[in-house]
Amino acid sequence: LQSRLPLVGTTVFSTMSALAVEHGAVNLGQGFPDFGCDPRLVDAVSEAMRAGHNQYPMMTGVPALREAIAAKIAALYGRRYDAAAEITVTAGATQALTTAILCCMHPGDEAIVVEPAYDSYAPAIALAGGVVVPLEMDLGEDGYSLPWQRLAAAVTPRTRLIVINSPHNPTGSVLRRADLDQLAAIVAGTDILILSDEVYEHMVYDGQQHVSVASHPGLAARAFVVSSFGKTFHVTGWKVGYVAAPAALTAEFRKVHQYNVFTVNTPMQHGLAAYLHDPAPYLGLSDFYQRKRDLFRAGLAHTRLRLLPADGTYFQCVDYRAVSDLPEAAFARWLTTALKVAAIPVSAFYTSKKETGIVRFCFAKEEATLRLALARLASV
Ligand code: PMP
Ligand code: GLN
Repeated sequence: LQSRLPLVGTTVFSTMSALAVEHGAVNLGQGFPDFGCDPRLVDAVSEAMRAGHNQYPMMTGVPALREAIAAKIAALYGRRYDAAAEITVTAGATQALTTAILCCMHPGDEAIVVEPAYDSYAPAIALAGGVVVPLEMDLGEDGYSLPWQRLAAAVTPRTRLIVINSPHNPTGSVLRRADLDQLAAIVAGTDILILSDEVYEHMVYDGQQHVSVASHPGLAARAFVVSSFGKTFHVTGWKVGYVAAPAALTAEFRKVHQYNVFTVNTPMQHGLAAYLHDPAPYLGLSDFYQRKRDLFRAGLAHTRLRLLPADGTYFQCVDYRAVSDLPEAAFARWLTTALKVAAIPVSAFYTSKKETGIVRFCFAKEEATLRLALARLASV
């Protein structure tokens, strides 16, 4: 069989998690919490099952969940999406992203992807017959930022999509309103669409607020806005997410969605719909994770690993060049096998596999887990 994705292997997350298990390492590689979710959420799903919500739901998602999502977005970001025509429940953010890409890209179309980038975007663009145009973020003393002039210069008549992600995996950087204004100015007068991956929307630190593309009228009118309950409610294995997009985009999205997955599992949708009525769990998430971030950063401050800013997400990037001149994948393997703390090489997030001497740690862990990892890292 001639591969449709010849350059793709097993994801770096699976590889590093397997290595962590093999070597008994604390797994700060793949991004997932090592603690449970709210038992009330489990109860809500169990109740939905017992109530008999076990057959196919509507293709677009359980209405109560779509309503709850629309209400949440309206309350937080000020845009009122029509739950019937503009919100679709997906099997995690991954399916939302892939389906959005497949529904709008034609062979030969270009998608500008801000890099370092989460690893699912490029293969989905390739499967659509599209061309990835990587746009590397600037990396300075203050961390990562978007190079607006280079972004404007990367636009061509074939540009169909710009993929952005804020809060950003792996760098932890966040876009601000002025950034969205810059982006809006670049796409104004074009038919370029925006795919905005906002799965870490509820993890933004130091009193900052997440600025959703949904809150920016000029961008929202041409955007697929994607999020995931896996991140927000500590249930990454549930794989329930959604996309919010104007009706015309949603109509095309659903044409693909119905043959991609058709529907997403019913009881979890009902459980999530009930649980979403209380905003406290997601409104408190930034404080919850900021304590972990601060603990982890304070511990690493005693090492020779240089901390990069971490304004959002549950990731902390460090520059390790004062410690080692190994390439990133080798350094991450060394951390995992010798020090027994797994990390992810940031080079895996670049099309060019560019080496910047930076690895990513995930701090979505119990305090005891973080303290164990810090004790093991104390010697670097
Ligand atoms: N986008 C980003 C930036 C992510 O980090 C993740 C989680 N790894 C996803 C999308 C996928 O989310 P889900 O597990 O809901 O498919
Ligand atoms: N989003 C998670 C990360 O960046 C992992 C997702 C995955 O394993 N595909 O670590």
